[in-house]
Amino acid sequence: MILLFVGPKGSGKDTQTQLLESSGFANISTGSLFRQEMQDNTELGMKSKQYYDAGKLVPDELVLEILKKHISKAEADDIVLNGVVRTLEQIKPTEEMLASIEKKIDKVIYFNLSDEEAVKRLANRWTCPVCNTVYHTLFDPPKVAGVCDKDGAALLQRADDKPDAVKMRLSEDRTKTGPVVDHYREIGILHEIDGSKSIEEVASELHELIKVFKEQQ
Ligand SMILES: [Zn+2]
Repeated sequence: MILLFVGPKGSGKDTQTQLLESSGFANISTGSLFRQEMQDNTELGMKSKQYYDAGKLVPDELVLEILKKHISKAEADDIVLNGVVRTLEQIKPTEEMLASIEKKIDKVIYFNLSDEEAVKRLANRWTCPVCNTVYHTLFDPPKVAGVCDKDGAALLQRADDKPDAVKMRLSEDRTKTGPVVDHYREIGILHEIDGSKSIEEVASELHELIKVFKEQQ
């Protein structure tokens, strides 16, 4: 069974992917596959690195080649595709690539996140300018407010982590993934999960969903 995870940064889909990986799913996350390919200096990795180093987006064809390689050699029958389809334009080529190795997306899980929760999760991050340790004022605060535990430096908030930037990014994400979500809803394989819930709640909801999916197969 192949699950496709869709959702914004902070929605918990990366955490849930890792949890499913520890229960036997193959984890196909675009970002980490790239890092792996580049680390291993493979031909695909070196090609990708040229784009990275030039600050350009890696072209979709190259992304698909890397995905195809890793999905083909995945040992598990159950696979999570995380961050693989982000725009409407990527749906068709991704499905064609899967069809070429006799696979298909069985279900799509959309991790929805409210603005309020996104800001709570992402806009409370403060970074040490000296050692780059990241703190979260609610979930992982430093011992003394505003000061790094390790070296006493004053913590800074990165431009990306400021509330307005977080809201802007979430709204951009919604604009891009909205049509993807609509597409899969129309063809009847979309399941929406409230990403504002706790890790444990979402994990058990997913567990139940997967059980139902397997019974349907
Ligand atoms: Zn520090």
